[in-house]
Amino acid sequence: MNKNSYILPLYNRLEVGFVKGKKSVLYDEDGKNYIDFASGVGVNSLGYANKKIVKTIKKQASKIVHSSNIYQIKSQEKCAKRIVELSSYDMKCFFCNSGAEANESAIKLARKYGNTKFKNPKYKIITIKNSFHGRTIATLKATAQEDKHKYFAPYPDGFVYANDINEAINMIDDSTVAVMIELILGEGGILMQDIHQVKELEKVLKERKLLLIIDEVQTGVYRSGNFLLSQYFGIKPDIVTLAKGLASGIPIGVMISSLKDIFAFGDHGSTFGGNHLSTTVCNKVLNILEKYSNSGELSENIKYFNSCLQYIINKYPNIFLKKSGFGFMQGLVLKDEMLLNDIINLALKNGVLVLKSGKNIIRFLPPIIINKSEITEGFQRFEDILSKMNKI
Ligand SMILES: *Cc1c(COP(=O)(O)O)cnc(C)c1O
Repeated sequence: MNKNSYILPLYNRLEVGFVKGKKSVLYDEDGKNYIDFASGVGVNSLGYANKKIVKTIKKQASKIVHSSNIYQIKSQEKCAKRIVELSSYDMKCFFCNSGAEANESAIKLARKYGNTKFKNPKYKIITIKNSFHGRTIATLKATAQEDKHKYFAPYPDGFVYANDINEAINMIDDSTVAVMIELILGEGGILMQDIHQVKELEKVLKERKLLLIIDEVQTGVYRSGNFLLSQYFGIKPDIVTLAKGLASGIPIGVMISSLKDIFAFGDHGSTFGGNHLSTTVCNKVLNILEKYSNSGELSENIKYFNSCLQYIINKYPNIFLKKSGFGFMQGLVLKDEMLLNDIINLALKNGVLVLKSGKNIIRFLPPIIINKSEITEGFQRFEDILSKMNKI
């Protein structure tokens, strides 16, 4: 920890800082290069210095970055239309700046729905153990990891936790308005929910006119190979939240919902949300990713990435238990959780960036546009450290 820093000591930073990047490769101050299997925790969907994105940012910055939501913003309208079309859901958008804000918006929308659409008002939201929904007071309370709640009480009422989807179904009562879930737990262990259980949950909620909120802040924007993982699950949520990969590094979040007439003027808003710069870049990112996905290249590269992970699992059964995850959101489950930080640090030293999830999982979130040669090189560097570990 740097005692002379003027920044509050909230992060356990690794000993490296990057000064530039190209595609899915990063460079530090000494010019050393790193294959990026982390993408800034799922943010840099197009990697680094993408020519089209650089051009889009420059062009838009030279015209107008921000006006305000009290004026018309054409790029925001266009972006909303793109997101809704790609989702294939009949929905409308609210733009904000982060995942937590998108989830906070979802909580507010669900509460207004619960407070206005039933004879006996409903407010309770059920979330799943080891979920992660953000760090604001409400989204922290929605995050079902009670060790994270220790210091910040009191919290708003109305959040309850289920161990799994089946338990969530059983916990629904007269004051429940919604169930909010990640289809793959991102921070909490790269655990994918069972499709049939999620569909059962959807059915039960629909029967009771209650809401299904899907937090796709990490799983969304083609990370799963589909624009939304909800589409792959074949469900129709009432609210979906997105953020991380939407504009490849420019801060943006969005809540999309089929509840089009619950919020009215003044109920909610954002100063920065959906400004000219973020929505113009988001439009470009979505155009590039849609083409990339339609070309078949994305699913091919996901397949290749998976085969590399499978090779690692097969070759190092003494280090790893199994693989978990889906698409470009993958985890290797360690036998010994004590190895987690060691492997991440050794990988960094050997020029490949990986993340952690939960207590014992190496998490892989590469840029969506990562190519075969980058994948090959990254796994070579990763395997290098494993083979050395095996010799110790
Ligand atoms: C990262 C994340 C969030 C929080 O997003 P911020 O932009 O850090 O507020 C919420 N939900 C999930 C699933 C996430 O992965």
